[in-house]
Amino acid sequence: MEILRTVAELRKWSRSVRGDDGNTIGLVPTMGALHAGHASLIRAAAASCSQVAVGIFVNPTQFGPNEDYAHYPRTSDADCALAKAEGASVIFVPAVEELYPAGAATFVEVEGLSNRLDGASRPGHFRGVATVVAKLMIAAEADRAFFGQKDAAQVAVLLRMVTDLRLATEIVVCPIIREADGLALSSRNMYLSPAERAHALVLSRAVRTVETLVAKGERRASALVAAAGQAFAGEPTVRVDYIELVDWATLQPVETALPGSLFAVAAWVGATRLIDNAILG
Ligand code: AMP
Repeated sequence: MEILRTVAELRKWSRSVRGDDGNTIGLVPTMGALHAGHASLIRAAAASCSQVAVGIFVNPTQFGPNEDYAHYPRTSDADCALAKAEGASVIFVPAVEELYPAGAATFVEVEGLSNRLDGASRPGHFRGVATVVAKLMIAAEADRAFFGQKDAAQVAVLLRMVTDLRLATEIVVCPIIREADGLALSSRNMYLSPAERAHALVLSRAVRTVETLVAKGERRASALVAAAGQAFAGEPTVRVDYIELVDWATLQPVETALPGSLFAVAAWVGATRLIDNAILG
């Protein structure tokens, strides 16, 4: 498995492997610190594309000034081994200056969606995400790019971006991978102390509570949000950022859950911000 470091190398690789044989290129953008959630995306990409590029880039523009950019876990040797084992053809590990050349002044802003959910509490976050994903899709000339439902608001922003920019890359959304006790896998889980790890289970508990209520026929957003709020009230050390029922495409609040509505939560467990969600049936 080759390690590529420049956009020119990635583009050259993509063009050479595509050839004239109808080979397809899959792209899995990540920030590294790979876990079983990332592995599931790489496996899905390898199952549906002839060649897979895994991007590993801690993207500075999606972190706020007081966020964890400097401390974000960087585990490159283990990442390479995992990517290779799951079927990556190459990994793309650019330096910051490679994706943001000196004087970089071009950003992708998905209006309306970028300030909803995580975008509301992390101003500029989705602008950074959309910008870096557009750069990766264009550089890799990817046929398909694979993202986790774990970051459901991100998926909505990127689908809008691909539609609006008429990009040639199709977005594939993969299910949330969880620990046996329900905690959604996240690179940030490694920040949690054992006590915080236990408290963090309230996020998946709140989501499950809502899924159960919906299965029993409850559809009112007010009742679903209140039930999740009650679940969080049982874990007072965890500070809720948002609890929302929204249309998954627009991220606008809805009053009544419909099939495909997004129920999403974010909360602070100590100094660590975690998210979870469900697409309602
Ligand atoms: P990140 O490295 O956190 O930027 O995530 C890279 C990709 O992995 C994103 O598309 C995430 O949605 C996805 N991902 C992260 N955690 C999970 C998970 N627990 N299950 C499925 N996909 C995930």
